[in-house]
Order: sequence, then C-alpha cells, then structure tokens
Amino acid sequence: MTTLSIEELEVQYQLRDKTIRAVDKVSLFLKNNESLGIVGESACGKSTLGLAIIRSVPGGKIVNGDITLDGKSTLKMTEAEFAKTVRWKKISMVFQGAMNSLDPVFSIRQQFEEILQAHDYRGDRQKTINDIIDSVGLPPTVLDKFPHELSGGMKQRVVIAMALVLRPSLVIADEPTTALDVLVQAQILSLLKKLKKEGMSLILISHDLGIISEIADNVGIMYAGKIVEFGTLQEVYSNPKHPYTQALFKSMPKIKGEPELISLKGTPPNLANMQTGCRFYDRCTHAMEKCRKEPPKIKTESGHVLCWLYE
Ligand code: SF4
Repeated sequence: MTTLSIEELEVQYQLRDKTIRAVDKVSLFLKNNESLGIVGESACGKSTLGLAIIRSVPGGKIVNGDITLDGKSTLKMTEAEFAKTVRWKKISMVFQGAMNSLDPVFSIRQQFEEILQAHDYRGDRQKTINDIIDSVGLPPTVLDKFPHELSGGMKQRVVIAMALVLRPSLVIADEPTTALDVLVQAQILSLLKKLKKEGMSLILISHDLGIISEIADNVGIMYAGKIVEFGTLQEVYSNPKHPYTQALFKSMPKIKGEPELISLKGTPPNLANMQTGCRFYDRCTHAMEKCRKEPPKIKTESGHVLCWLYE
C-alpha cells in the first residue's frame, strides 16, 4: 500500500510583489516501510517540500496539488483534524538544525512531557519517554539533563526521539547529519537504518549524495523547485539521466577515477521569474530549442526525468 503520494504539489512564498515558486508541480510517492532520499543544492525547495508534507510552511502557502496518506487526502482535512490525527502521530519531522531548537532552560524530560501534553497523550507518559530514549541508544540519565550538558550527537538523537515519541509511521529528516562529525554521522545513520528495519518509512532530505546512498530505496533529485529525476537508488545512481544529476555526480570527489572535480557553470534560475521551458536550460550543455519553450516530463523505468533527451 502506498503510504504517501504527492501529486502536482505547488508551494509558494509571497515576497512583496514577487511570487517565489519554491515547489512547483512536484509528484512522488513513498511506499510503506520504504525510504526516499531528496537531494539538491541549497534553496532548491527540498526543505519546503518536507514542511509542506506536515502542512507547516512558515511564510509559505500550498496553492495547488494534493498529498494523500494511505489513500486519504491530508490537504482536504481541516487544520484541527490534521493536527489531531496526522501531524506527529502519523508523520513527524526532524527539522534542519533541530538540535539547536532544544529549550536550554528545561530538562530533556520536561521537553518530552510538553510534547505528550500538547498531543493529549493518554498512555503511561514516563514509560513512553523512557522507552523512546532507550530506542535511540541513549541512557535514561539523559532525560534529567539540560541540552548544554549533551554532545551534538546526543542532542540529535534526542530530537529524533522527540519526532518518534508518538510512534509515527513516517518520519521526514531534514539534513539530520549536517554539522555533525563523521563518527556521529555514522551513528545517526545506523539509528535511522535500525528504525527503518523496525517498520518506519523515511524521507531523508540532504545535499549529500553519499548519505542518501546509505539508506534510500528511491531518490528524487531536486532543482529549482522541481524533482528533475526520480527513480530507484540503483537506477539513479548507476545511470543518472538528467544533465543536472550527472553534474552532481561529477562534482563528487572519488577515490579512483577522474582526479578533477567538475563544477557546474552558472547559477540556479530566479524562482520568482521562471522561464516556461526546462529550468536547467541556461546551464545545460545539451540544451535544444525545444527545451526553452516546453517543460519536459518523461517516464522512466522506475520514475521520471524532466529532460527532452529521453523523449
Ligand atoms: Fe538540458 Fe534540454 Fe534536458 Fe533541460 S530538457 S536538461 S535543457 S537537454
């Protein structure tokens, strides 16, 4: 059964007289117990996409499209119904830089209690808190500490535990390993793998192709508000089709092979002033006249690619 399906989703920000199309007609799906990696450079819209799934886009608005969870549209729910039945209970999110969002004047236990109270949790609260902190590999003594007494890795585990405390079936993790050293990154990744093994679905948002390759079943490559390539990890990584995806791989250092890193010329387009055709047109070495006029969308074996080369 499909857990999550996103159809032609559009999210915009209004900046005075400018409309920023941060997510533009994005479609993808995530099956039960699968993991999806969303990769792209800064400001490509990947965090906005994650925030839109939990219907919390500060300063932005979902203007079109649909999101369905287990066959039911979450965008057609009232805010009260979504908050009561979906947000944090079925879908939760580990926000970017979340470990810095822990309140410095409350102990970790108090911060967990606040979440359970806000969601009117009826079970045994202390047992739930102890169980969840144990499941992320932290000792119970952590609960009575304050954030400044914990290392970066411990704080990141705490915020992951907070996202899991109501046992959602889907967690969106936005750059959960950024700003952590490589050893802690490895610990967080193995924690996410363990949670996935236990049945959780995961959307992992990252700019790091290496991190995504560790855990994702499917991958969406995002550029200027669009998922320009979507498919299985195997298909996208072994045979990247979109020229932007190919450029991303060429910009990664390799132990063997090309000694020189290739960097992409130009800059991403202005999201407030989009051309009608392919958004990669100005930077693409394969660009054709057709690409400037018509936006492409071609089906592939396991997903799609927004490129006329595969027509
Ligand atoms: Fe390049 Fe054209 Fe493909 Fe866009 S559609 S990526 S411009 S070849």
